[in-house]
Amino acid sequence: MATNQDAFDEARQFIAGGVNSPVRAFRAVGETPVFFAAGFGSRVTDIEGHEYIDYVGSWGPHILGHAPEAVITAITRAAKASTSFGAPTVSETTLAKLICESLNGCERIRLTSSGTEATMSALRVARGFTGRKLVVKFAGCYHGHVDSLLVSAGSGALTLGNPDSAGVSPAVAAETIVVPYNDVAAVERAFAQYGADIACTILEPVAGNMGVVLPTRGYLESLAAITHEAGSLLIVDEVMTGFRVAWGGAQRLFDIQPDLTVLGKVIGGGMPLAAFGGRADIMAVIAPDGPVYQAGTLSGNPVAVSAGLAALTQLKNTPAIYRRLEVLSARLAAGLQESAERHRIPLYIARCGSMLTPFFQQGPVRDLEGAKRSDTAQFARFHTLMRGLGVYLPPSQFEAWFVSNAHTFKDIDTTLAAADAAFAQLNK
Ligand SMILES: *Cc1c(COP(=O)(O)O)cnc(C)c1O
Repeated sequence: MATNQDAFDEARQFIAGGVNSPVRAFRAVGETPVFFAAGFGSRVTDIEGHEYIDYVGSWGPHILGHAPEAVITAITRAAKASTSFGAPTVSETTLAKLICESLNGCERIRLTSSGTEATMSALRVARGFTGRKLVVKFAGCYHGHVDSLLVSAGSGALTLGNPDSAGVSPAVAAETIVVPYNDVAAVERAFAQYGADIACTILEPVAGNMGVVLPTRGYLESLAAITHEAGSLLIVDEVMTGFRVAWGGAQRLFDIQPDLTVLGKVIGGGMPLAAFGGRADIMAVIAPDGPVYQAGTLSGNPVAVSAGLAALTQLKNTPAIYRRLEVLSARLAAGLQESAERHRIPLYIARCGSMLTPFFQQGPVRDLEGAKRSDTAQFARFHTLMRGLGVYLPPSQFEAWFVSNAHTFKDIDTTLAAADAAFAQLNK
């Protein structure tokens, strides 16, 4: 039987770095990546036959756990009626209507295949609509690997220690103004200096790609006010938070009015699907109605749309899911905190609904600088120990853990027992 190491060695011969997305290589924790064979509910099994309780959830999409019946049934039915037409289908409109009705002030959307494409397109629309070129982003926020947004980005870019990617031209990077998260004065200064040239402010309303970092009280409202005052657009990147932290996402939870919203992950039910949308007058700049070009051979793919529709329908019809996720996640966070304290390990847990990050430090963590104060070496040891105890965690301090509706109270308690044993080992 092939081991994870064998599989990785072979993959490295044909795939750049052996993986199709950098964090999968497990560099930050110094381990061999896991090659998976199957997943069901809260559990995943690797090719060596080890079973794990999964808190990665494909990096966020699996809010219902792996292979939920409704989603698999919908995918199967859709695939049998052809996997792609490259032409409109009625379910795209059904999904679009469901999404528009659940967000604040979103009248039209466009579907794409990845979050990266969606944020890239939203920026182009903001620039096309305002006729301006600059973008304000926040250090540690990740918006996919869009050239102009790979400046002080989070997620893999942060983990690998090269936040500014090679291959991004300085001219493109110069169109992005980076300010610290949760710092209103810094945004005011940026707008005082460049206001008339700023097309948009883009942010994660709850950051998840430098680890989870919550917006401080009034921060989102202030950003919206400053941005709108200057005639710029507010783009809320809810690729991670959308339908994860609440039905309708962080914008419903914190009651903010974005001009454009970007979605991905949960809305695709585990298939490649993302979206961006907003006010009708803004979205009207997109071709064929307007001059901003945006397209995709597989955009609105019927199989992906069927998966997204099945997942969102289940979430919409069962509001109790969000309440259950809150209870499970609160129990996990409280248990970890208590256990870490018992073993005298500094741990600061940031959580919004079912996304959380235990930072190995005292905290509080309000921005990228704060997140970086974590003891990443201790996190790496913890990750390896937890993996050995059957718990699969994101392989970096700077990622969010995701709880799904397939997790049981027993899963949480098993995880807490493993964490307690791991914390005890860390002290040895
Ligand atoms: C994951 C993510 C993206 C990128 O989405 P992909 O589908 O990986 O391209 C963009 N923004 C945020 C906030 C994300 O979490």
